[in-house]
Amino acid sequence: MSVFKLAMHPASEGDALVLTWGTDPAKLHHALVDLGRTADYRIIKPYLSSTQTFELFCLTHIDADHIEGAVPLFKEAALPMKANNIWFNSRAQLAAATERRAVSERERMGAAQAEKVTAGIVASKWPWNAQFQSGVVSTQSPEAASPIDLEDGIKLTLLSPSDSKLASLLPTWDAELAKAHLRTTDPDEVEEALAAGREALSIGLDVEKLASEPFGIDTTRPNGASIVFIAEFDGRRILMAADSHPDLVEASIRALGYSETNRLRLDCLKVSHHGSKANTSPSLLKIIDCTRFAFSTDGTKHNHPNPQTIARILKNDPARQKTLIFNFHQPNTDQWNNNGDLKTKWNYDCVFPDHGAVGVEIDM
Ligand SMILES: [Zn+2]
Repeated sequence: MSVFKLAMHPASEGDALVLTWGTDPAKLHHALVDLGRTADYRIIKPYLSSTQTFELFCLTHIDADHIEGAVPLFKEAALPMKANNIWFNSRAQLAAATERRAVSERERMGAAQAEKVTAGIVASKWPWNAQFQSGVVSTQSPEAASPIDLEDGIKLTLLSPSDSKLASLLPTWDAELAKAHLRTTDPDEVEEALAAGREALSIGLDVEKLASEPFGIDTTRPNGASIVFIAEFDGRRILMAADSHPDLVEASIRALGYSETNRLRLDCLKVSHHGSKANTSPSLLKIIDCTRFAFSTDGTKHNHPNPQTIARILKNDPARQKTLIFNFHQPNTDQWNNNGDLKTKWNYDCVFPDHGAVGVEIDM
């Protein structure tokens, strides 16, 4: 019996995800997708040390809740792990996407985190974006036209970013990074967000009403540059949506031949942007066939997941039994769990970390 599973480690409001697969349960392979924040890295470090080798380490984009944990990793005198491949679009790749030229020189980056991560990647000597001859992880790199093979037969189909999403990030790279860096030391912002969340929770959970709110799409450029892929192993599929924009992901899925009448079957969707209401569109949900939805966030800072996203997921497929998977108990997730009538009416249940466990693991 082959193994294919997703682990959502605790990563504050961000992601620290691990895919594990293998035909031989004694010889499993792992892919690490993002590393949360610095404090999250401290928690996950023993796991990284004991796992030792990752087939892929993907840093999906430059927001602090995905990349900050990689800074202390690369600061370690001896790296606690080894990656056989690393995927990360640094400033050099954004420039290359703009001009589609060979990357001959790594340019310096403006902001501290990405600069440190880039230096760390260079020092690690881990093969960097090696599957892409241009060095750019983009749907427009020729290699992305077909699935990319990693160890033991897993296939990764790239859905995001595109050259234009990467290119549009370039002019705001410094500003966005500086902002992301500031977030780590701004308690006022945290308190503001918590207050907004308490307000949001009081509106109650009217699924019909929440689902019918007009969809306003995320336009933030770092999120749009997220690396997104479908991982397929032994007939099972998970879509790792990072913090992506739904318009590009939808277009990429349609380009693979899927539509409302020929939906992409998924065993799990790692919901984009921690369940933000601006990243999972009703039209994207219509072209996927999926009953398990995973949300990685402790709800701090942005009150994710937004109830509109969960309402849209429930409303999209009311008849079938659905599972919502959360890696934290927190007000924005518990409210969906503590309502038996709602669960019966909309046919869903909730999965949380086992009592005393750190993070949650899902078999595909
Ligand atoms: Zn994020």
